[in-house]
Amino acid sequence: MTTLVKTEHPFSQISLIGHAGITGNELADTAARSATGSSERFPIPYSDLKACYRQKLQSIWQSNWDQQTENKLHSVLHVLAPTVPSSSNRREQVIWTRLRLGHTRLTHRHLLFGEPPPYCEICNVPLSVKHILCDCPHSNHLRNRLLNSVDFTISSILNNSNNSSFVFKFLSIKDFIHI
Ligand SMILES: [Zn+2]
Repeated sequence: MTTLVKTEHPFSQISLIGHAGITGNELADTAARSATGSSERFPIPYSDLKACYRQKLQSIWQSNWDQQTENKLHSVLHVLAPTVPSSSNRREQVIWTRLRLGHTRLTHRHLLFGEPPPYCEICNVPLSVKHILCDCPHSNHLRNRLLNSVDFTISSILNNSNNSSFVFKFLSIKDFIHI
């Protein structure tokens, strides 16, 4: 929030950035008012208030999330922030979100239809997003070619939306694009 304080100085206004209720800022406001002899308070613009609330809610949300260490999605996301690639279309955003959740049609549809779970035909292990993107040795060459600058963990691949174009290309070549 911004508080404007009138003074006799040639620069007629001082801008103080801060939040109401924060001790340091309240003290700064009080000091500024006593320096000018003014007890006048100025209205806070709505946009400043909205930004303040948003920041506070984000902080509470993050603090809540930090305590949920048993949640399996912690391995994907430690710091809460926008995660969907901004340049992608709706279809790619859906795929990206499914990958991040680890719940895709390919790996979880058997639950809906009462079918046996899918297996990687080469490794004979249950098929998962982690296996497809990180573990399957059959994809090592392609993985290294497309994603050679990141270590192959779900977190490092899917926490950075800049990797999305490489991931979509990887899935397309491996014929998993309808995941
Ligand atoms: Zn495999």
